Amino acid sequence: MPPPKKHFGQHFLHERSVIERIVAAIAPQPDDRIVEIGPGEGALTLPLLRAAGRLTAIELDAELIAPLRASAAGIGELEVIHADILKVDLAAMAGGGKLRLAGNLPYYVSSPILFHCLSAAGAIVDMHFMLQKEVVDRMAAAPGSKVYGRLSVMLQLACRVEPLLLVAPGAFRPPPKVDSSVVRLTPLAPSQRPDSAYTQAIATIVRAAFGQRRKTLSNSLHGLLDNHAIRAAGIDPRARAETVSPQGYIALAQRLDPDGLQAGPKLVDNASQ
Ligand code: SAM
Repeated sequence: MPPPKKHFGQHFLHERSVIERIVAAIAPQPDDRIVEIGPGEGALTLPLLRAAGRLTAIELDAELIAPLRASAAGIGELEVIHADILKVDLAAMAGGGKLRLAGNLPYYVSSPILFHCLSAAGAIVDMHFMLQKEVVDRMAAAPGSKVYGRLSVMLQLACRVEPLLLVAPGAFRPPPKVDSSVVRLTPLAPSQRPDSAYTQAIATIVRAAFGQRRKTLSNSLHGLLDNHAIRAAGIDPRARAETVSPQGYIALAQRLDPDGLQAGPKLVDNASQ
């Protein structure tokens, strides 16, 4: 195998107990359509393939493709696609069915990958991703937490977020500089998600509120909602962004005049904060 490449975010998992726990959390079933993002040398690919019988893996590094195919010979039906995951149309790949996504993601591009996957949420059963622990903490944070922010709200309005497992740097070769964490994301059913009519309004309100998170909502939402409208949403205008629940943001968005909105973000845009 070629040496790990930093520019592709390559940190290969080698600790058996961590690999086993991730595979157990995914609990692959024979009929599952599992798509692995960034299979690398196959640390997760081969045990997943053994359990599911078939798997599609998407890998950007051309040098890893042939060795991966060779190591899967005789284990199951492995399709390796040489591509950048950001250019893969996951909804088209699902072809009306549903995919289960998994991957120890390259951290340098993990937020774009996350939001790319969420844009195909309707075609996805669940996602199990290894990410920087700090990112998973922000994804799962509850109102009132120091790390509760835009990422928490936007993600929790789209998915159930379950942190599963902490992973220390020593589990990887080479070790990353940060701790890692495995998270399960389960896209919410359409009936549990905010009405798409409010998609843009939610994104606008959340961005404005957390853009000035130290200020009261009365100040940070100035120009979007007045105190009367904030109160009508059931929220105290003296509250700060970090105390408002995801449902609270829906209520605020419902008070926003759609004519006052600028064209812009989708609900699940690249909310990295
Ligand atoms: N799954 C392997 C493991 O756990 O040992 C490798 C994980 S490594 C952190 C990330 C993998 O994603 C590498 O194999 C890297 O080449 C690949 N990768 C990086 N950018 C990618 C992209 N945009 N699309 C697909 N794969 C990518």
